Amino acid sequence: MSALRELVTLDKDWVPNGEESSLYIRPFMFGTEPFLGVKASDSYRFMIILSPSGRYYATPVKVKIEKHFVRAAKGGTGFAKAAGNYAASLRPAQLAKADGYDQLIWTDAQEHKYIEEAGTMNIMFVINDALVTPALSGSILPGVTRDSILQIARSWGMKVEERQVSVDELVQAMEQGTLSEAFGAGTAATISHIRTIGHEGIDYDLPHVEDGPVANKIKSYLNDFKRGRVEDTFGWNMKV
Ligand SMILES: *Cc1c(COP(=O)(O)O)cnc(C)c1O
Repeated sequence: MSALRELVTLDKDWVPNGEESSLYIRPFMFGTEPFLGVKASDSYRFMIILSPSGRYYATPVKVKIEKHFVRAAKGGTGFAKAAGNYAASLRPAQLAKADGYDQLIWTDAQEHKYIEEAGTMNIMFVINDALVTPALSGSILPGVTRDSILQIARSWGMKVEERQVSVDELVQAMEQGTLSEAFGAGTAATISHIRTIGHEGIDYDLPHVEDGPVANKIKSYLNDFKRGRVEDTFGWNMKV
C-alpha cells in the first residue's frame, strides 16, 4: 500500500477527470528466479502499473452460457487473480465471438449446472426483486466489486441472496419474466449490463437493460462514492 500511495502521488497528473473514467491500478507479481524447470520461484518481483482509463464495456453485452469449456475447477486456482487463469478462457471466448456473443457465462466444471461468472467479471441477477449472485465456490474469484455491491445492497435493505444459481433456474426465470436484470461486476467496468443470454441455441433478451433500476442505482452510487460525493459510511476511500 505504501508503494501504491507513492506511485499514485507521483503520477497524480494522469488521473483523468471525466465522469466514469478512472486511473486503473494494477499491482502484480511474477517469479524472477533464473532457472529452467517447473517449480515455484525462489524470488519474485512486485510491480504496479497505472493506466488512465475511459469508460469500459460501455454497451450492454450479449453472453452465452458455456456448457463445454471450463475456466476454473474447484481445487484449482480460479479464486485467485492469477494471470494463468485467463489462458483457458481465451479460446472459448473466441469461439463465442464467432457465434455472435460478446462473452461467456461460465458454469461449474463438474456438471455445467450452476452459474459461476461472466467472462472476467462476477455475475449478478435481479430475480423477483432480490439481488442474487452465485455463492463463492472456490472456483469463483471473490471480486472486490462483488463484495462492495453486496454490502451496499444490504445496507439499503434489499433482499440479497448468495447461493447456488442453477442454469435451469435462470432459464426458467427468463421464460417466466421474473429475471428483470443481469449484469457483470468488476473493477474496470464496475457494472456491465447484460442484454441477451444465450442457452442451447435460444437467445433470451432482457428488454430495456439500460434502464435496469437496481444496476443503475448501484452503479451511480459507487461512482459517487469513488468521487467522494456521498458519505464514506463503509470506510473504503483512501485519500492520496
Ligand atoms: C478480476 C476478476 C473479477 C472481478 O474482480 P474485482 O476485484 O471486482 O475487479 C471477477 N472474476 C474474474 C475471473 C476476474 O479475473
